[in-house]
Amino acid sequence: MSQPTHPPPDTHETSGEHNWVRERFPKGLLLADGATGTMLQAKGLGPGEPPDLWNLTRPKAVQEVHEAYLAVGCDLVQTNTFGANPLRLTERGLSGQTAAINLTAVRLAREGCTAGHLVAGTVGPTGDFEGGRHRSVSTETRSAFEEQLSYLMHGGVDLILVESMTHLAEARMALQAAQECPPVPVAVSLVFFEQREGLLTLDGASAQEAVRELTTAQVVGCNCMHVEHVIEVLRQMREVTSLPLIGQPHAGLPESRGKKWVYPLDPEAMVRHIPALLASNPGILGGCCGTTPAHLEAVARSLRHS
Ligand SMILES: [Zn+2]
Repeated sequence: MSQPTHPPPDTHETSGEHNWVRERFPKGLLLADGATGTMLQAKGLGPGEPPDLWNLTRPKAVQEVHEAYLAVGCDLVQTNTFGANPLRLTERGLSGQTAAINLTAVRLAREGCTAGHLVAGTVGPTGDFEGGRHRSVSTETRSAFEEQLSYLMHGGVDLILVESMTHLAEARMALQAAQECPPVPVAVSLVFFEQREGLLTLDGASAQEAVRELTTAQVVGCNCMHVEHVIEVLRQMREVTSLPLIGQPHAGLPESRGKKWVYPLDPEAMVRHIPALLASNPGILGGCCGTTPAHLEAVARSLRHS
């Protein structure tokens, strides 16, 4: 097992201009992995079954997903902890398992890593802002983040990746909770939806407004959107920040073909978007739902030649 490679402790003090990704990777771009959930579905994860629970019940399957991404050249793997905050786990009848699920997830992600690989502790939405619940500030939400973050950090992640945040208010809360912990870089990635006024979060923030609110993050960006929208959001963010940007497009909206769900964006199609993605000089590129090691392999190959 490789040693955790924590950044220098001054990371937070200098966060505004500190270019953590570029210091770590002088080549200037870190390749993250692709989807975990859809990969586990391919390995038999049933509808409604919590993917996070597989860290305990099917650890080998989770490890195989991480290793498949590392094998094709990804620099960074994301823990299988998207829904592993205590609020979501309790809703799924898994209360009391937050520690075991998160700690095991970090170990599984780390196991296939060698020197130079990074493990990102994935933190998804609590669910408190979904379905019109929109609690603006809830101490319960905040402590749910704090609990999950404490286990991810205790497990030894190299960075925290707050991702798939549909509400800027919740992203801000997660960022604040993460930054009260020991100094680990924090990346915050939001989802923007196409609306009449442009691409906005569900609480109405534009990409540039989000960046201005998240200036203490080490990395900002977006994920789980069409690749064209990721390109546009990163372009808008780059106009107002010098922070490293992260972009993780999904592979399109799945279409039902018989018993299978098929994602329309294949690896070669994803590669065709690389020049436009690189135009905003991102620090981290990866994939979200529906992307596979084949997508990331194609991206890695394309980056080597770009
Ligand atoms: Zn996704």
